Amino acid sequence: MNICFSEGQKQYRQDVRRWLETSLPGNWIEAAHWPLLPEPEERAFLVNWERRLYDAGYSGVAWPKAYGGQGLGPVEEFLVNEEMGRISAPESLNTIGRELVGPILLSVGTEEQKRHYIPRILRIDDIWCQGFSEPNAGSDLASIKTRAVRGNGGWILNGQKIWTSYAHMASHCILLARTNADAKPHRGMTLFIMPMNTPGIEVRGIRHLNGQRHFNEVFLTDVRIEDGMRIGEIDAGWQVAVGVLGFERATTRLYRQQRFAEELRALIRQARSNGSMTGAMEDKMGEIAAELEVLRYHNLKFLGRICQGAKIGDESSLLKLLWSQIHQKIARLGLEVLGPDIDADSPVAARFRKIYFIARGETIYAGSSQIQRNIIAERVLGLPRPERRPA
Ligand SMILES: Cc1cc2nc3c(=O)[nH]c(=O)nc-3n(C[C@H](O)[C@H](O)[C@H](O)COP(=O)(O)OP(=O)(O)OC[C@H]3O[C@@H](n4cnc5c(N)ncnc54)[C@H](O)[C@@H]3O)c2cc1C
Repeated sequence: MNICFSEGQKQYRQDVRRWLETSLPGNWIEAAHWPLLPEPEERAFLVNWERRLYDAGYSGVAWPKAYGGQGLGPVEEFLVNEEMGRISAPESLNTIGRELVGPILLSVGTEEQKRHYIPRILRIDDIWCQGFSEPNAGSDLASIKTRAVRGNGGWILNGQKIWTSYAHMASHCILLARTNADAKPHRGMTLFIMPMNTPGIEVRGIRHLNGQRHFNEVFLTDVRIEDGMRIGEIDAGWQVAVGVLGFERATTRLYRQQRFAEELRALIRQARSNGSMTGAMEDKMGEIAAELEVLRYHNLKFLGRICQGAKIGDESSLLKLLWSQIHQKIARLGLEVLGPDIDADSPVAARFRKIYFIARGETIYAGSSQIQRNIIAERVLGLPRPERRPA
């Protein structure tokens, strides 16, 4: 594993750092996180920030220039991610577009789809959501019931999705639907691009415990889309979907790790200076610091493999398991250090409350921790599958 960055890459990191330090609005953390802005204002703030990133050339760093990217490599992308997290830059509103849809279209999309959608993802002209989970199909995605049948020269969609993050603000959805009821469950599914303004789509919000709205139920009644909106071959959606999940799991969430870790370090510094850190808290901080280092080296190992053209495959589950669990440890220690102040109306308390809720969901979405452990056991370590008991 070669983890030395070249002189050019070190310079690139410095350039990114300098640009971020001079370009982030001074009040952005308060503006975007506390007090929580009303949704339209927060959205406008984040869209504006992402356009500035794009204009400065720090968006789509490793995507081809032909589709609006920067045409650089995964190392530069990694460096931008690290620097964004280090300074706690705002996260993208369009994570699903950037982290799932873009890579999928670049690998299996038609030329027309790439030329149309990829630049729009980068300029945040389109915001995407992901319509995979259904009321009885989450971990067991092969059980989805939403149907797509041929009709009116295109496809007619009927069914229901749930936990659809950003559906209330998305312009497009990457949708998994059953196209062949007679095929085995893992066959007979197809992926589609579904514009969210198509007649027949109803989005109903689900409020979080903390009062925010992030995900939704999406009901589809005779929604008609063109065949040109299909991604990949008919009935081959499972393979493409597994690719999507691979991207989502491998996505190191590096910016988030960096950001959460920086927030925790700042809090710990403050607690040390006012003498409120206990020995037990120091031990936990030491454990987290060590695990973050381990995770960083895992990230670098995978980065090295990607640079050599290798695919990460099932091993992406290792990363997913690690990052989601470390984020929860960071959140828990943050709450412990804040103690009774966690209820305070201060920006730092508000941020840790938010981090805590975000981290809770991270061991569930993109495949729960139990599912990651099954994948690691069976497909990475080659352990035998448990025998299925007769019902
Ligand atoms: C914050 C958040 C955002 C999300 N955003 C989206 C989104 O944008 N689009 C989307 O499509 N979905 C989204 N989801 C849904 C998510 O993908 C599902 O919640 C997840 O796949 C689990 O499915 P489920 O909720 O149906 O739980 P289930 O699959 O019913 O699982 C319930 C429990 O059983 C365990 N379990 C299930 N099967 C096994 C097994 N074989 N072995 C061992 N344990 C098992 C699970 O680990 C879990 O603990 C989101 C979820 C969260 C929390």
